[in-house]
Amino acid sequence: MAGSEQPVIIIGGGIIGLASAWALHRRAIPCIVLDQEPIHDGASLGNAGLIVYGHPPLTRPGVSVQGLKWMFDSKSPLYIKPRFDGDLARWLLTFHRHCNKPHFEACLAVLAHLGWETARGFDEMRSDASIDCDWRPRGWLDVCLESSSLDESEREIEHLSPFGYTAERLDGDALRGTDPAFGDEVAGAVRFDQSATMDPLAFMRSLRRWLEREGVEIREGPRRGGVERLLTENERVTGVELASGEVIETERVVLAAGSWSGPLAATVGLNVPLQPARGYHRELTGLPAMPRMGGVLRETFIAFTPMFDRLRLAGTLEIAGHGRPWTRSRLENLTRAAQPYLRDLDEATITAEWAGYRPCTPDGMPMIGEVPWAKGLVVATGHAMMGMTLGPVTGRLVAEILCDGRPSIESPMLDPARFGRVD
Ligand SMILES: Cc1cc2nc3c(=O)[nH]c(=O)nc-3n(C[C@H](O)[C@H](O)[C@H](O)COP(=O)(O)OP(=O)(O)OC[C@H]3O[C@@H](n4cnc5c(N)ncnc54)[C@H](O)[C@@H]3O)c2cc1C
Repeated sequence: MAGSEQPVIIIGGGIIGLASAWALHRRAIPCIVLDQEPIHDGASLGNAGLIVYGHPPLTRPGVSVQGLKWMFDSKSPLYIKPRFDGDLARWLLTFHRHCNKPHFEACLAVLAHLGWETARGFDEMRSDASIDCDWRPRGWLDVCLESSSLDESEREIEHLSPFGYTAERLDGDALRGTDPAFGDEVAGAVRFDQSATMDPLAFMRSLRRWLEREGVEIREGPRRGGVERLLTENERVTGVELASGEVIETERVVLAAGSWSGPLAATVGLNVPLQPARGYHRELTGLPAMPRMGGVLRETFIAFTPMFDRLRLAGTLEIAGHGRPWTRSRLENLTRAAQPYLRDLDEATITAEWAGYRPCTPDGMPMIGEVPWAKGLVVATGHAMMGMTLGPVTGRLVAEILCDGRPSIESPMLDPARFGRVD
């Protein structure tokens, strides 16, 4: 397919859209990125910035049952707003069916492989675009208050070690010896080695600037960049129609519209059953002791990430649809729940608050591939909690499909048509 005159149209200027533009540009394929919003506030800029290679999927054994228990607790880390909604009911049922050990292990085998490839992609991307994003390549910490949690975390190493990933258990004193930011109540941490942390806002801004300098056009706003539907003829994509009525003709489209991808996919009959899972962040400055590494406060599921002079606390998975008002108690809970882990949090100043949506599939796996009945249309979405991490490898697979006809990593678990068609 390479060599065609028409640029590839990429729908969505989050990490998946920009990484696809990066990978296509590396192959000298012209592309245009369309986004219905100004690109400065999406999930790809507000996330926790943990680049966790070999990240496990959301569909873990026992999670769906735990989720039901948390359903009515507005302070819980996973919250599903009870409501009558057929799509949500189907999503929850499918999710529940996938929360088992064999599926978890099958997912991990694919994700561990993608992890090594995305690590390589980050090196290439950071070097191509000279990205300055406070990249800290020393791994991430799973910090525990309870020694039973520490044992549990240590057992998780067993899932990843067959794929070459390593980790080390540190007791509380050893942890505080290397990083005095952690409080006396902390029992210890497991350090997972092959990972990094960064400031995703700085990363995305640098990548965008570089793409534009290289000649990639980025069109933003509802009229210039908002896509209303995908156009096909004789089982081939032929273009996109914008909200303004403008039609852009092309033979190649990448659908990377994050948690909004479902309705667009439905315009070509593809079922992309995503639930938007809202998460929050709060940023603090002026912390007397800033942690040197980022990670997760295990018992709370809150991520903490040093980003230049700020500490970002991020968390909560709230399945309540798009666009509802923020739940303030969840933001308050980020700092309150982090207090036993991190010293002197109350001396810091809150400088930013944010909420955004993870695109979650009901089987925990992203969708990356060409739609069999719409040749030239590549779907790249559903990355849930690992979109930042899997950005570079997803971009590369998109470019391989469009340029070489097939991706270098293939799995039915990534197939965008695995949930079938919609009328
Ligand atoms: C609180 C929180 C913490 C997280 N922490 C991490 C982490 O530590 N590590 C990690 O790897 N991942 C993390 N994630 C997940 C990660 O942020 C997402 O998986 C990732 O950002 C998804 O990227 P995306 O490009 O698919 O979607 P988005 O970033 O949502 O981008 C999609 C874009 O498409 C645009 N769009 C939608 N509809 C249309 C349309 N019709 N026409 C044109 N444009 C359209 C939207 O405006 C949007 O800009 C976190 C997420 C949250 C919310």
